[in-house]
Amino acid sequence: MQEQHDLVLAGGTVVDPAGGWREVADLAVSGGKVAAIGEGLSSSASETVDCTGAYVVPGLVDAHTHIFRDVSKVGAPVDEAHLQRGVVAAADAGTAGASTFNAFLRLVVEPNRTRVLSFLNISVLGLIDFRFGELINPRTLVPEDALEVAKEHPEVVRGFKIRMSTDVVGTEPGPATELLERAVATGEEGGLPLIVHIGETPVSLDAILERLRPGDIVAHCYTGKEEGILGEDGTVRECVHAARARGVLFESAHGKSNFSYAVAKPAIEQGFFPDVVCSDTSYRNWNGPVFDLMTTMSKLVALGMTFDDVLERATAAPARLLGLWDEGFGRLEVGGPANVTVFRQLEAEDVLPDAAGGSMPVRRFEPVATVAGGAHVAPVPWRGAVSSLS
Ligand SMILES: [Zn+2]
Repeated sequence: MQEQHDLVLAGGTVVDPAGGWREVADLAVSGGKVAAIGEGLSSSASETVDCTGAYVVPGLVDAHTHIFRDVSKVGAPVDEAHLQRGVVAAADAGTAGASTFNAFLRLVVEPNRTRVLSFLNISVLGLIDFRFGELINPRTLVPEDALEVAKEHPEVVRGFKIRMSTDVVGTEPGPATELLERAVATGEEGGLPLIVHIGETPVSLDAILERLRPGDIVAHCYTGKEEGILGEDGTVRECVHAARARGVLFESAHGKSNFSYAVAKPAIEQGFFPDVVCSDTSYRNWNGPVFDLMTTMSKLVALGMTFDDVLERATAAPARLLGLWDEGFGRLEVGGPANVTVFRQLEAEDVLPDAAGGSMPVRRFEPVATVAGGAHVAPVPWRGAVSSLS
């Protein structure tokens, strides 16, 4: 007598670079866990999803997004822009600060099914409105407040965030550097990593990287703005290689204005891949050019990264970065939590914009189903096809 399963994802290609899976198989879910991976499981299921021609992978994790809706102008809806587009866990990158964190808990973390984490903005205000940089008044950097919130909410706060662009820290290198140093010191005191937003900074990239610790994260590594990762000769700068060798991480958050094909393509050709693939989805870009994490992933494949390299950086790598690995996120494991994403790669190409005026044909990834903690979530359509509705 065969065991009865709650749900079977049937006949897809199970791929998990971290766990070593790559085979056509059924994946069965029972009691919120992955019950089995193998052949012939669908006859025993209460519910079956036909995954023929699709990839069945660990639930995607987006390490950089903006989801503080109704408080911040940049907040995208959590489940609609994440869970229903294949993302089971998402980290808000600095939209909330210490003074707004309780509202973030109530409005974002608690009511949504997407697992939500936070890189707490080093400014107590957080990123409420792009027109007024959150550190333009440097007194809003209050380390004690940030540290207290991080200490009280370790289940949510997994690091700090500082934006180093001139609209946030001003145009003077001296005071901007001091803000960075205070942010790094706060991370050190709290035992947490710091994400640093680069591009159009008043401080040179060398001077920023020099101050980061192993485990700190550079956001927007493929930005087309000044003080990016490429030198004038088009090769990845020595200071970038040196920082990576020391353990500084680089992520590829796309955002409305920080992802350039003209930077990403040569960097990828030179073997400079992001450590983590993330989207920087926000209310300003979820109708394009970002749309969602899956669209960003498919752009990186079109730019020359392998499918497995991209997938690993949108599952295992962010799960480790966010401290979710120990909870079973980022991989497929029989007996582990059933966080699973099913998607297919479309045959037809879409011409997709970057964030710097470029465009290229991309065979997009499109979600088929998401399983979060064992619950089957149906996808919503791609915003590129429905943007006229918003
Ligand atoms: Zn961002």
